[in-house]
Amino acid sequence: MGLVRAALSEPDRRFIIGQSGGCCNKCKTQVFRENEFAEKARIGDDAHIWAYSNEGPRGSAPGAPADRNDRENIILLCKNCHAEVDQQPIKFAPNVLTTMRREHYAWVDCCLGQNRVQKPRFHHILYLNVPRLDMYAVANSIPIPQFEFDFGAAQRFRDLGFNAGRVMAKYCHVLNDEDMYAHQIGGNDDISHLDAGQYCFIEPVNFRTVEIDNDNDLPAAWASDKCIIYRRFTEWTLICEIQPRWITTSTADSTLRSGWAKLCGVVRISRINFGARKVYVSPLFLAQPEGIFDAN
Ligand SMILES: [Zn+2]
Repeated sequence: MGLVRAALSEPDRRFIIGQSGGCCNKCKTQVFRENEFAEKARIGDDAHIWAYSNEGPRGSAPGAPADRNDRENIILLCKNCHAEVDQQPIKFAPNVLTTMRREHYAWVDCCLGQNRVQKPRFHHILYLNVPRLDMYAVANSIPIPQFEFDFGAAQRFRDLGFNAGRVMAKYCHVLNDEDMYAHQIGGNDDISHLDAGQYCFIEPVNFRTVEIDNDNDLPAAWASDKCIIYRRFTEWTLICEIQPRWITTSTADSTLRSGWAKLCGVVRISRINFGARKVYVSPLFLAQPEGIFDAN
């Protein structure tokens, strides 16, 4: 059996406060206060999901971790919410609290991103290339999202079911990285100056969406311009190579096969064919812009 610590460790406490944005994971109130006299107050607790002892709230519920002071068993709550969840342990069962915490952490990530960057407005992510996003994250020292389910086993993103939404929420903080949006192209911009390896944000534009196919031999399909969506920018054509695996939902799949779609997203330039005036890119994600009918 694992070594049982007497208290939550200081690194774990800091991790939990950081991930929680200093807020109660239930009502989102700030749990650290300071007044005009520089007096500090902490009105929150490191609440146990499974109580420290079997007799406490949820203490005898199945699935308790060996070490109840492990940070996986702790959720930051204000004093009010702590009292409420401990006095109503049936309503606030362990799975309810772990879901609450996961959603709160994702919410904090999104809030931080929105305050930090001029985030492009989009909804409904149609395509999310997880390995590409992980590569981007590593190159930019952004933590790679971790999953409590076996993500590698899923052949297609859309087969993840419920977990698809969790994956998208977890990648929120990667998508919010401001460097990702540093280079923007749109409308009828000249794209002849782009370089291989560069990341670009494609502003909302119409793409031709023909030739998406569940081709097993993608390099061959791409060599003959199959399994792509494309758009002409002045004299040049931007070609997005699509890996069907990373299409997020069956609705997204229909959209990408529908002939045309108004899309925005971040792509990495993979290669440039100067003779044919084609820029080949690999999308990190593609989304539908907000206000889809106003975009040009
Ligand atoms: Zn609260």
